[in-house]
Amino acid sequence: MQIIENAIGGKRVASSSTRKSAVYNPATGEQIAQLPLSTNAEIDEAVASAKAAQPAWGATPPLKRARVMFRFKELLDRHAADLAREISREHGKTHDDALGEVQRGIECVEYACGIPELLKGTFTRNVGPAIDAYADRQPLGVVAGITPFNFPAMVPMWMYPSAIACGNTFILKPSERDPSAPMLAWNLFMEAGLPEGVLNIVHGDKEAVDHILDHPDIKAVSFVGSTPIAEYVYQRGTKAGKRVQALGGAKNHMVILPDADLDQAADALMGAGYGSAGERCMAISVAVPVGEKTADALIERLKPRVESLKIGPATDKDAEMGPLVTAMHRDKVLGYIDKGVEEGAELVIDGRGFKLQGYEDGYYVGGTLFDRVTPDMTIYKEEIFGPVLSVVRAPDYGDAVRMINEHEYGNGVAIFTRDGDAARDFADRIEVGMVGVNVPIPVPVAYHSFGGWKRSLFGDHSIYGPEGVHFYTRLKTVTTRWPAGIKSGAQFTFPTL
Ligand code: NAD
Repeated sequence: MQIIENAIGGKRVASSSTRKSAVYNPATGEQIAQLPLSTNAEIDEAVASAKAAQPAWGATPPLKRARVMFRFKELLDRHAADLAREISREHGKTHDDALGEVQRGIECVEYACGIPELLKGTFTRNVGPAIDAYADRQPLGVVAGITPFNFPAMVPMWMYPSAIACGNTFILKPSERDPSAPMLAWNLFMEAGLPEGVLNIVHGDKEAVDHILDHPDIKAVSFVGSTPIAEYVYQRGTKAGKRVQALGGAKNHMVILPDADLDQAADALMGAGYGSAGERCMAISVAVPVGEKTADALIERLKPRVESLKIGPATDKDAEMGPLVTAMHRDKVLGYIDKGVEEGAELVIDGRGFKLQGYEDGYYVGGTLFDRVTPDMTIYKEEIFGPVLSVVRAPDYGDAVRMINEHEYGNGVAIFTRDGDAARDFADRIEVGMVGVNVPIPVPVAYHSFGGWKRSLFGDHSIYGPEGVHFYTRLKTVTTRWPAGIKSGAQFTFPTL
């Protein structure tokens, strides 16, 4: 049985912890590795190593830091398929989907390659007689990232490439369900020439998270995961005096106006609702057709598509979606389907009985489609995080907008229409952080930033892109005068011109 190691001070090290967690292959239900849950002393060691490495790394010219990022990017390109295999083996997503994840992670590394330009400050000559001012951004020190299972390579790359390029050193605590992809990426970063101690990885669960949140030498924490934990991390981390960005869960709607191309909308819903078995924070889990006619026509198109979804392990090249990540999560999703039926939603396609021949112990759930879901139902209110699409019929456009604005989450949303005026109004009024117009999964590219509204994000900064650079740096403004000699005495009033 493989035992997953930590990465501390430039070395892979075995944990001495007696607390352990199991890593499974969700396609087969087999345990494939054992993950020690690091002790507090091991986390302290990682933080000490990051703290020791930071002054030199922070003083390294940004151009040189960028060169390490360029080499890392090249190695990631070369090993993209290896990373994707690690992701699929522990997460269950299809190989092509995992490759897509790796690519979107690489794009964050590409962005970080531009760090000399991104850290360029501002300068003003003559803010006063012979007085100049400049402002630039400096690293925070040691920062940490805590990441979810659903993008084991990409979400850490939303964090550490920017943080490290900015001159910080980093402690990553990956999800305990799929820890191998971030470990492989760590190997590649070291091969690219990253100095020891700049990126450290410690595995663990709540205990490790709490220790990170309370650690006096960690200055900032980035978190991505479910909303209750995001809120907890934000509160505990900020109470300990840290800068925290905590991204939480989602319930993403797609509004389909009567003038939309319904075949295009149905295809978009298939990919966005069932891709990665619905385990994406930007998955569409609620379709909102406007008007009964649109709803009937949409259901007519969705039904055969959901029935013919190809489900299989990542080794099956034809599979469109894989299993759920753990048996526990599968049972939770099945519980939501039961609840939907109990609360009166119309179950158009039931994925509960799905079994895959030869993979009977895998954590599969078939594609599930509910119609006539209403906003008071649990399956509407809560994030299911599985291959379950709910259709909520809206009588008109105004109702659709109101319903979405009243939802507790505000991560992503989409509208499908041919009407530019309606789309513009929607983008304006909708209380959601990321909006797609005829784009079902509007994940911003690496040079924009990612972040939801409402209870999908706690903190003031979105993640990666320009907001990431801001999060991982602090502003310093310097006012300088080089007088020929001090000509007057002390001044006691507030300085003005
Ligand atoms: P999770 O909240 O269970 O775990 C996330 C991280 O928190 C893990 O590293 C885990 O070890 C740690 N953790 C778990 N329980 C904890 C506790 N009680 N105290 C402290 N730390 C704890 O999330 P998950 O199941 O791994 O991921 C799925 C969730 O992440 C979904 O809700 C999804 O919407 C969300 N997500 C959000 C985004 C986004 O950008 N907003 C992106 C990806 C995933």
